[in-house]
Amino acid sequence: MLQENLINVQAKIDAALLRRTEEKITGNKVTLVAVTKNHPAEVITDAFNLGVSVIGENRVQEAKAKREIVGKGSGRWHLIGHLQTNKAKQAVAIFDMIESADSVHLMQAVDKEAAKAGKVQEILLQVNIAREEQKTGFSPEDYEAVVPELDNFKNLHVRGLMVIAPAAENSEDIRWVFAEGYKLYCKLKQQRSDIDTLSMGMTHDYETAIEEGANMVRIGTALFGQRDYSLKF
Ligand SMILES: *Cc1c(COP(=O)(O)O)cnc(C)c1O
Repeated sequence: MLQENLINVQAKIDAALLRRTEEKITGNKVTLVAVTKNHPAEVITDAFNLGVSVIGENRVQEAKAKREIVGKGSGRWHLIGHLQTNKAKQAVAIFDMIESADSVHLMQAVDKEAAKAGKVQEILLQVNIAREEQKTGFSPEDYEAVVPELDNFKNLHVRGLMVIAPAAENSEDIRWVFAEGYKLYCKLKQQRSDIDTLSMGMTHDYETAIEEGANMVRIGTALFGQRDYSLKF
């Protein structure tokens, strides 16, 4: 079933790319992050074996437990959920990329732990474009304020932006969020040439996100079905 779902999702990704009405500076390849949270550890191995190159987990503790069961595997691990500073060290040890860098305080903690580990940690800046109170992420103002400071984090490699759109029945209603994410990306790219990643879009809205310029999508449900919240890690 996973194999079939992967084929379907990939076809929709390709179709969305073809629907783009203008060329985007994010290129015409989309990286699929297979979101394995709240699924058993073995799902990670299955995904890598079927050619998935990146998996996404939203909690450090869960990722750590899974890592102990299935090992690193053949692909990359991305953290996509809010990270507490006291877990920065573990996150640096596990994740190839932290997509959910959402405050200066957290970036300082990750930078420090990466230095100690002798690692340059890849991160994305998560921006709360729709200003949803219940969601984390830099507010647009705080994001603007941190951009000039990015070179101060010697052990962080900022590769781009991550955006989560509000839940919506109709993804047309949130198209503006992705369009705004793309605008911020273009501006950041002008200032920092090594920016290359715009992570936007989940199961219910990834096609719209790709049309607006996403080159990374994070998809769980469409690949693995409903999450099992009774699983304990
Ligand atoms: C859970 C999660 C996803 C995947 O959500 P689906 O709707 O299952 O595709 C993507 N991004 C983030 C940040 C998540 O927490």
